[in-house]
Amino acid sequence: MTGRRVVIVGGVAGGATCAARLRRLDESAGIVVLDRGPYVSFANCGLPYFVGNVIQDEAKLLLATPELFRERFNIEVRTENEVIAIDRGTCDVLVRDLETGREYREPYDALVLSPGAAPIRPPLPSIDLPGIFTLRSVPDSEDIREWIEAKNARRAVVVGGGFIGLEMAENLAHRGIDVTIVEMADQLMPPLDPEMAEYVSRRVAHHTAHLQLGDGVAGFEQAADGSLTVRTRSGAAFGADLVVLSIGVRPETELARAAGLEIGERGGIRVDPQMRTSDPRIWAIGDAVEVRNRITGQWDLIPLAGPANRQARTAADVICGRDSRFRDVQGTAVCGFFGLTVALTGATEKALRRAGIEDFGAVYLHPGHHVGYYPGAKPIHMKLVFRRSDGLVLGAQAVGEEGVERRIDVIATAIQMGATVFDLEEAELCYAPQYGGAKDPVNLAGMIASNVIRGDVELAPWSELHTAGAVLLDVREPSEFRGGCIDGAVNIPLGRLRERMGELPRDREIWVNCAIGQRAYYACRILSQHGFQVRNLSGGFNTYRVQYPEKRFQPATAGTGN
Ligand SMILES: Cc1cc2nc3c(=O)[nH]c(=O)nc-3n(C[C@H](O)[C@H](O)[C@H](O)COP(=O)(O)OP(=O)(O)OC[C@H]3O[C@@H](n4cnc5c(N)ncnc54)[C@H](O)[C@@H]3O)c2cc1C
Repeated sequence: MTGRRVVIVGGVAGGATCAARLRRLDESAGIVVLDRGPYVSFANCGLPYFVGNVIQDEAKLLLATPELFRERFNIEVRTENEVIAIDRGTCDVLVRDLETGREYREPYDALVLSPGAAPIRPPLPSIDLPGIFTLRSVPDSEDIREWIEAKNARRAVVVGGGFIGLEMAENLAHRGIDVTIVEMADQLMPPLDPEMAEYVSRRVAHHTAHLQLGDGVAGFEQAADGSLTVRTRSGAAFGADLVVLSIGVRPETELARAAGLEIGERGGIRVDPQMRTSDPRIWAIGDAVEVRNRITGQWDLIPLAGPANRQARTAADVICGRDSRFRDVQGTAVCGFFGLTVALTGATEKALRRAGIEDFGAVYLHPGHHVGYYPGAKPIHMKLVFRRSDGLVLGAQAVGEEGVERRIDVIATAIQMGATVFDLEEAELCYAPQYGGAKDPVNLAGMIASNVIRGDVELAPWSELHTAGAVLLDVREPSEFRGGCIDGAVNIPLGRLRERMGELPRDREIWVNCAIGQRAYYACRILSQHGFQVRNLSGGFNTYRVQYPEKRFQPATAGTGN
């Protein structure tokens, strides 16, 4: 029996989890959770769906109450109690009861900071006008719902096209509101590589009134009738009855900074693998901390619920004397909107380049989520990134309607186990016709990448398509070719390649494409064994269409690849 006193700042994803774990490990500890909001342990991830009326009962968002914490765990939870200072010398925190205004001190043996991250509100002209919202808490979602109903809102502008922005866009559209998305980057879903985000843009553009990419908001105006105008830097203007800002979050570090705790280079609280801050009696977890990126080795801010929950367990373990360590973060995430699922894990190509890592390769594939002969197969657009020198899996992105998150979860686990593309090639996964293929998309990704590493086929870089001076050979059927092709490509269908290879030059590289990459691989094998210099345009014409979104084609025939 230790009788230790643990104070936790923030009672949602990280804080509530840490409190419950502490109690399971130490029945005698005094545990106090302080949260300045009116609720603890609420489902932040469900808030967009509450705004969209998909979740209609607010009570469903409240996963636990202070009463439940008291009765079940003997944990004291004080809502609407804000921690305003940490005194590291006397080991107590200064707390303000927001209802009464009373200030008091709460002593601790161990202090856990889980204050989360605040939505960014840039200092733009008139950003504080009524009708401009951010979404972080249950009261935020109540405010948005009330505004929509009171104003009978018909038009909304969502600023920011990341995870939360797109979830908000979908949910507002679900309420019959015309949504415009304004995003400063040239792509939606900034964590994705741009060509993978193109699938997202196509789907979102179909369901929203307007999609304004590559344009930042310059300011807001309000008319006499209360309606808003969002003006962009390019001079565009969008009318709106409400605006939702979802342009990212910044870690809540004010308390930690004021207490002199070390803050990292990305602006989050710096912690060690045991979630300890620079003060050995203070731990920090969740969105407020910086984490090591498992792939790049760099410090990163990855505000996701999974890491917050796992870090909470680590901190509780360590406070109770266990030698637990938090593994680094690889940013495994999933998001769904307008019937599309987007998921990613590990590093993207652009993240690797940003980190100065050049030893990597990338393959694209577009397999069906299950075999093509079973009704309802939907393509999954995948990109696998791996270390060229030894095949270590570095990351994967996938977009599609079905089976997306399962493949990314498998690859996420593989990355954590230090797997190579050869392991993916050999992975034994579930198969029946309605679920997958005897060669699952994960196997296929591993096979394609393994082929590259073994030297069975060379990949052609999409970025050099029109500058490399290679002969472009399309081995699809003429009917597919007529529906759209790469500029300058010649068409020799795979079935006629052996008889017509005399038409191809031997003194120049030949870059081969088909619809999704499979027939091009066969063609590469045939031609290379006949002495031609060939490379495969990974992912085929399907990938070309997203690499060059400015080109508009007839829809190509979808292939399942197995
Ligand atoms: C709309 C939305 C949707 C999301 N969807 C997903 C998703 O689908 N998947 C996913 O992985 N992640 C999602 N997230 C992110 C996820 O919710 C966070 O990563 C996670 O909640 C972080 O946990 P935390 O404990 O660090 O912070 P939080 O859960 O934000 O909790 C912090 C708490 O600390 C309190 N607090 C702050 N400062 C003080 C203080 N000085 N005194 C007292 N209390 C204080 C705050 O009031 C807050 O209640 C979503 C987030 C939002 C906002």
